[in-house]
Amino acid sequence: MSEYDLMVIGGGSGGVRASRVAAGLGAKVALVEERALGGTCVNVGCVPKKLFVYASQFREQFSHAVGYGWTLASPEFDWPTLRDNKNREIARLNGIYDKILSSAGVELLQGHGKILSPNCVQVGDREYFAKKILIAVGGWPFIPDFPGREYAISSNEVFFLEHLPRAMVIVGGGYIACEFASIFNGLGVETHLVYRRDLLLRGFDLDIRELMAQQMKDKGVHLHFNADVTGIEHNDGLQVQLDTGATLSVDEVMYATGRRPLLQGLGLENTRVVVNDRGAIEVDETLQTAEPSIYALGDAVGRKELTPVALAEGMALARRLFAPQDYSEDQLRIDYDLIPTAVFTQPNIATVGLSEEQAREQGFEVRVYAAKFKPMPLSLTDSDEKVLVKLVVNKADDRVLGAHMLGLDAGEIIQGLAVAITAGATKADFDRTLGIHPTVAEEFVTLRESVRE
Ligand code: FAD
Ligand code: NDP
Repeated sequence: MSEYDLMVIGGGSGGVRASRVAAGLGAKVALVEERALGGTCVNVGCVPKKLFVYASQFREQFSHAVGYGWTLASPEFDWPTLRDNKNREIARLNGIYDKILSSAGVELLQGHGKILSPNCVQVGDREYFAKKILIAVGGWPFIPDFPGREYAISSNEVFFLEHLPRAMVIVGGGYIACEFASIFNGLGVETHLVYRRDLLLRGFDLDIRELMAQQMKDKGVHLHFNADVTGIEHNDGLQVQLDTGATLSVDEVMYATGRRPLLQGLGLENTRVVVNDRGAIEVDETLQTAEPSIYALGDAVGRKELTPVALAEGMALARRLFAPQDYSEDQLRIDYDLIPTAVFTQPNIATVGLSEEQAREQGFEVRVYAAKFKPMPLSLTDSDEKVLVKLVVNKADDRVLGAHMLGLDAGEIIQGLAVAITAGATKADFDRTLGIHPTVAEEFVTLRESVRE
């Protein structure tokens, strides 16, 4: 029986990072993966999604180019070219992950990992002994039950569609629903977003959500708020019935109604690992489960389902397990309070820290600074698109509690501000920072009058 210091089940963002760092610190590591290396992010998540986002932005960019003097032949889009080029790029990345792991000395075991006991994992018909086991199995799309559910696809399938649909329904109001509504609308598909509440992206700053919904509508997405699907029938395409009484005739229905940890068949019944009522694995602040030899991270734990969170957890855990003496407590701890995040809609949303509503709910007295304007790149175009930048400042000590942006390259801009805010920047620090002119980002350092107290 092979024996390892660490066996990692799941070769996604968190599992790959943990294995590589642990092996680099001298541990004997095996990684079990039953699908493709890189996990959700590389294969059916962040990476192919962002490639589709780029593809979908060209339609507007072509029309904007006209105001800048370019004459273009009528541009045409070919879905199979995008899909197949994307597939090639992902295969290249899978190969890079394979090389990274083998050069770090991690042994790759292809197959399904099942925990047989606190120190034993089965892969295929072989059993492996491990001093420590890391569960990094990620999540899987959740689709509720309703008549015609079998006709609905999830984000797992959307990346491989045979044809670009003529018309499509996307159900949900979170990250995936909003991003794919922008993608398919940008690619020229008649796109219907169906969401059960009155405004998308619950949890984000209200000003940003309201402007986002307006801009999605202006760009042509059909928004059906306070609506849910009651059934899907298949005859001459898909007929989607809504509880509002409307019926939508489309070719594809995509559900983006959240994800659940992928724990079936993992053998947790052979351990003391506790699964909570969200279906996620319970861990303490060191990512240890109730079974002392077993750890868990990333989407399987579901503290915040984002790749940088899984990466940070993987790195911190490997260091804590195999070289804690070489790191400060800060380097072994994950700070979940200030997680920057972006939604790659058109335009992008990005945010770090508290929304205005969250800050007030938490008892802060705040000063709010905001500006809404037409960005310079659109000045010679007939676009009505607006940028919104917003800072939420704690009145008591002038600290910036949150920065929010809706607009081109918001993710790129907020990533920089996240460093300042993580370091505890005050509004006075923003004020004494010189702008880079002319940019959209300089608006963040020229906000002088508060719009609300
Ligand atoms: P995963 O990356 O899901 O990896 C888990 C791996 O474990 C998988 O490869 C799976 O095959 C394997 N596995 C599961 N069970 C077993 C088993 N029993 N045996 C062997 N192998 C097993 N996050 C961002 O930060 N930015 C984005 O832009 C972004 N976009 C996204 C877009 C979409 C459409 C989706 C679905 C997600 C997106 N995310 C994004 C979220 C991000 O992909 C996840 O948070 C991240 O991949 C979680 O990493 P993980 O290591 O926990 O799990
Ligand atoms: P989200 O949690 O973001 O959104 C789920 C949406 O589905 C919500 O609007 C929710 O509504 C709705 N919903 C849930 N259950 C039902 C139901 N039974 N019927 C109708 N609607 C329902 O999940 P996603 O699937 O969009 O994405 C999963 C996670 O992946 C995200 O939370 C995010 O962490 C990550 N991700 C990150 C991205 C990024 O960083 N850019 C991009 C894509 C995904 P309600 O608001 O009412 O609860």
